[in-house]
Amino acid sequence: MSGTQQTFENYKDSCFEEMSSLQDAFMAMYDINSYENWFYDHAIGVFNFKSDDGRNLYFKYVDVGSFSTASNTWNWSWNNESTPYNVQRGIEKVKSFGETHGFGQLAKGLIDGDEYTGWDFTVITAKLLSALGMYRFPHEHLFNYFIFTSELNDDEYNVLKDKLIECDRHESGTIAFVCKHLISNDNIGFHEAFQSNPLIEPDDDYQAWCDECEVERLKEGEWNDKSMAFSDIKLVCDQCYFEIKERNQTHN
Ligand SMILES: [Zn+2]
Ligand SMILES: [Zn+2]
Repeated sequence: MSGTQQTFENYKDSCFEEMSSLQDAFMAMYDINSYENWFYDHAIGVFNFKSDDGRNLYFKYVDVGSFSTASNTWNWSWNNESTPYNVQRGIEKVKSFGETHGFGQLAKGLIDGDEYTGWDFTVITAKLLSALGMYRFPHEHLFNYFIFTSELNDDEYNVLKDKLIECDRHESGTIAFVCKHLISNDNIGFHEAFQSNPLIEPDDDYQAWCDECEVERLKEGEWNDKSMAFSDIKLVCDQCYFEIKERNQTHN
């Protein structure tokens, strides 16, 4: 075993020790075993424990990755095309930690492993992202691993739920706003209310408009009835928003 590998084993063991007592405390404090049902929604990144007697717990989560019992491989969420960016937030920290410390396993997308591999990577992620707790659940031939990063009260959950929007292409997502021109065009410019990054939690709803709308806005000096009418803002899901951004940042 190489020196680096030994260090990884040591690091993993220390994370395991710390995180298993944290996990015990988490399970006890929230009495997780008293909840008969659970759901999660990738679109808003919320995990919901629900009891038959009507109690709810809500947690923001990060999707760490999945272990396939069919291929005996671990797949980091950032390597999985079907995992939306908003539930990968923070994982890049684990990846760069791996790169800095020579722990290649943390920076490589798909890794051969065994039944322990999923927890190995999940406790390390939990440690690096200061998680409240961890959760594993089966789905067909996969085990999915999540970490919980914060608890939401009912009001906070309802605010997020109100931002859910159905989408023909992505099933559902978080609400975002774009001018009508951006919906069906390419390469027409992309101006944003603030600089968006799908890996960073936004403080506000995503909002963007095209070059022509920007000209109109500057002519009016602000968003007013006239410039708003010109833009005719439409609602899209956040994943569509980033696709629209991708194809409109350049000009013809
Ligand atoms: Zn426009
Ligand atoms: Zn969409």
